[in-house]
Amino acid sequence: MTLSNVVVVGASAAGLTAAETLRREGFTGRLTVIGDERHPPYDRPPLSKQVLSGEWAPDRLALRPPAVLDDLEAEWRLGSRAVGLDVSTRNVELADGDPVPFDGLVVATGVRPKRLPFGHDLDGVHVLRGIEDALALRDALAATPRVVVVGAGFLGAEAAAVARELGCAVTLVDPLSAPMVRQLGADIAGRVARLHVENGVDVRCGTGVVGFAGERGRLVGVALDDGAELPAEVVLVAIGSVPAVEWLRGSGLPLGDGLLCDEYCEAAPGIVGAGDVASWMHPDHGRMRVEHRMNATEQGAAAVRTLLGRRVPFAPVPYFWTDQYDVKIQAYGRTSGAADFTVVEGNLDEGPFAGVHSEGGRIASAVAWNMPRQARALRAKVVERASWPAHQDS
Ligand SMILES: Cc1cc2nc3c(=O)[nH]c(=O)nc-3n(C[C@H](O)[C@H](O)[C@H](O)COP(=O)(O)OP(=O)(O)OC[C@H]3O[C@@H](n4cnc5c(N)ncnc54)[C@H](O)[C@@H]3O)c2cc1C
Repeated sequence: MTLSNVVVVGASAAGLTAAETLRREGFTGRLTVIGDERHPPYDRPPLSKQVLSGEWAPDRLALRPPAVLDDLEAEWRLGSRAVGLDVSTRNVELADGDPVPFDGLVVATGVRPKRLPFGHDLDGVHVLRGIEDALALRDALAATPRVVVVGAGFLGAEAAAVARELGCAVTLVDPLSAPMVRQLGADIAGRVARLHVENGVDVRCGTGVVGFAGERGRLVGVALDDGAELPAEVVLVAIGSVPAVEWLRGSGLPLGDGLLCDEYCEAAPGIVGAGDVASWMHPDHGRMRVEHRMNATEQGAAAVRTLLGRRVPFAPVPYFWTDQYDVKIQAYGRTSGAADFTVVEGNLDEGPFAGVHSEGGRIASAVAWNMPRQARALRAKVVERASWPAHQDS
């Protein structure tokens, strides 16, 4: 079927790439981009880094200048929330207007922060996903409060580092054994824990938060399940996220941990998913959903090619990076806590290093700590799924 009217829901990294790819690949029909934030597409990774630290004003986050967006000849419906989808009549229902018809649909609605079942009504309790969240947290940190970061994944660990650099007293709490252990495995996570301790963070792993104390609507403390009570004026809840699929409930589209797509990123005929919201069948790794910036771009392009009938299985090498203090960690492939990690250059205990995780005699992923050149070189080994140890090749 030749498409004449494509709607993209979600005006961020994945949605923007989808719109740009459509035009680049020759789509001349009607194009509508719907986004519930009032901002044109902007980049989220700096929110927990340069924006939180005050180094960047939010206007540096724009993913494209206005003139480039104009050139797309799309109708931008910003500040407008999709609340339903009628697959049979092919309409997106909006909270604030008439249904928007489509013949091709890109679902790129990302994720929303997961919340604790208590305490979010208190002043001083924050989450971090969008510009407004980052500015509110930045302003709160300016008074150098006592800060508890709940959740030591990459977002929590980055925010803890920035808060520390701003002079706050910071406690980083997670029920798992070390920061970022799920993403990086135990060996590297131990090094991340030490990095935070050396920078003055009170790292409390292996313990969870059971409640917040408030006085007159303001946070004053945090209770942990080991009985500890931490005085605090600011909490960041960074315990993960939930795919933004609430508007798709009842539509008949397959939902699980996100919008369930096949290996071409298709959820139903003419309906594709991209970015953080999309769970798809990776030809090598099986079903996965990736919440990283590079994937949003790559999948936005791949999903649209499926819409246009140029179907190629989406089989990226997952990539993410994180910046904490003066350290950049880069990871390629499917890092797994169960895999063995071997350092190929540098030293895991101090200074930069790079190495690989191996599973079943093959390289599964590569991680570099302040070694960007080596990270790129090891990526090639991840792509090949090279034998490991290397001498098995000969
Ligand atoms: C603070 C922070 C730091 C990060 N740092 C890194 C990093 O260092 N490295 C890395 O690899 N990745 C990082 N990421 C992850 C990266 O930013 C995401 O993977 C990327 O933004 C995903 O893009 P997306 O377009 O799929 O989703 P999103 O960027 O979440 O965009 C989805 C958009 O859809 C909108 N939307 C949702 N529901 C609806 C609806 N019903 N109707 C209309 N619009 C809707 C949302 O409001 C949002 O604007 C970070 C993320 C955050 C929040």
